[in-house]
Amino acid sequence: MSADSGLDILALGAHPDDVEVHVGGLLALAANRGMKAAILDLTSGDLGTRGTAETRRTEAQEAARILGVARLVMDFPDGRFTEDEAHRIRLMAEIRRLRPRVLILPDPEDRHPDHRRAFRLAQEAAYYAGLRNYPCPGVPWRPEALAWVGGENPGRPDLLVDVSAVWERRMAAFDAFGSQFAQDPSLPPTRIAHPAFRRGVLGRAMHWGSLRLCDWAEALWCERPVPLALTRLLARLEDPS
Ligand SMILES: [Zn+2]
Repeated sequence: MSADSGLDILALGAHPDDVEVHVGGLLALAANRGMKAAILDLTSGDLGTRGTAETRRTEAQEAARILGVARLVMDFPDGRFTEDEAHRIRLMAEIRRLRPRVLILPDPEDRHPDHRRAFRLAQEAAYYAGLRNYPCPGVPWRPEALAWVGGENPGRPDLLVDVSAVWERRMAAFDAFGSQFAQDPSLPPTRIAHPAFRRGVLGRAMHWGSLRLCDWAEALWCERPVPLALTRLLARLEDPS
């Protein structure tokens, strides 16, 4: 990806597959609209119970290809990255290089500590990346708006996006992570490989869709009042013209 790409949307996850659990449809819609969108994974998921880091990188690139967006995988250590300044500066440098207008973050209250830490690290990096005198590579850049996803039992969302038009692609990208989600008795059982986890993804999207009076929707949370950049983004995503 070129250094001056200037992304419309950057969706950040701690591990490959995090973004696809929550906002694959939003990204597929963005790709359909000709917007510049990308996924940034902080780690390759090398601590995962299933799949090697290499397997997960391959699956992650296939998922991004299905969605039609770019993907970058940083080499932060899974489970062991911290909120120290060295990690923050590396993330700030990526934000300055990619220049996202909207940055989508993990759930700040998720049950996985990496997801909560990734939220805090990225929220701070997004702010400090805009400070011109902060000693960090790149030209200062601060996203116009931050939004974040919900966990498995989220409350009332701030924004809903109708993703019915791209739902099959969205779930194909989710299912591209075979090492994580496939029903394979030869692999060790995990929470996210349980069939109930996938049903939860479907059930939440169906519930959000019932509130939007559409088949499938995805939810986002954000600061209040809702930033204009997010209102405009959703209008662009849902405008078929
Ligand atoms: Zn994760």
